[in-house]
Amino acid sequence: MATNGDEQQSRHQEVGHKSLLQSDALYQYILETSVYPREPEPMKELREITAKHPWWNFFPGMNIMTTSADEGQFLNMLLKLINAKNTMEIGVYTGYSLLATALALPDDGKILAMDINRENYELGLPVIEKAGVAHKIDFREGPALPVLDQMIEDGKYHGTFDFIFVDADKDNYMNYHKRLIELVKVGGVIGYDNTLWNGSVVAPPDAPLRKYVRYYRDFVLELNKALAADPRIEICMLPVGDGITICRRIK
Ligand code: SAM
Ligand code: CA
Repeated sequence: MATNGDEQQSRHQEVGHKSLLQSDALYQYILETSVYPREPEPMKELREITAKHPWWNFFPGMNIMTTSADEGQFLNMLLKLINAKNTMEIGVYTGYSLLATALALPDDGKILAMDINRENYELGLPVIEKAGVAHKIDFREGPALPVLDQMIEDGKYHGTFDFIFVDADKDNYMNYHKRLIELVKVGGVIGYDNTLWNGSVVAPPDAPLRKYVRYYRDFVLELNKALAADPRIEICMLPVGDGITICRRIK
């Protein structure tokens, strides 16, 4: 990997895994024992390219955008377990979770991938192409919400998605959920990412939180409550990465 142990450790503390696991050493153990040795070469390469992204300079030592390697491994496994074929991703960035998805799908699998920023996607695209899975991806540049509205209006996309991964603007998650619950099939899965939001979901009101963490926290809290109360889904909140809530549509 591109980073040394110290760097990895500080990043890890920064994103608050310590509150989720017994120790940083335990997280490191998971990475070194079960994740890195089995990480496909293209995913490793993409992770290294992403680690050099200029945005890192704004948040030194912070892994705020990209999906962590253990979460990538989890997504890849989940997609295979549910035999996903038709999928969607909202929030691509440089494409780490997208590549984890593309590698898990059968050769005729599809991913509708949306992001307001094409440049970051194009940073990872050569690796995705080299891995031989780019043909599964239909990338749309722009905000996801109007695309979802269009699909709802069309009518023919209702109940067609096996899996949807949501990892974009947290203040829109509730808006996404209203639409995605129509688009995912009964028995299909929606994964909402960052539902533990740096561990801030349990921070006291006067806790010194970064501005963006504080701003989005209320939206994450609202989403978590709404998902728990939604009778159309079964849910499971996992302390993987920054927290991911798996929702299985049941009606
Ligand atoms: N899943 C990605 C990965 O594994 O690296 C990380 C996604 S990153 C946390 C969030 C992404 O959401 C950013 O690339 C951002 O441009 C995108 N985004 C923000 N607002 C959006 C919107 N309204 N519609 C689509 N994408 C959006
Ligand atoms: Ca995320």
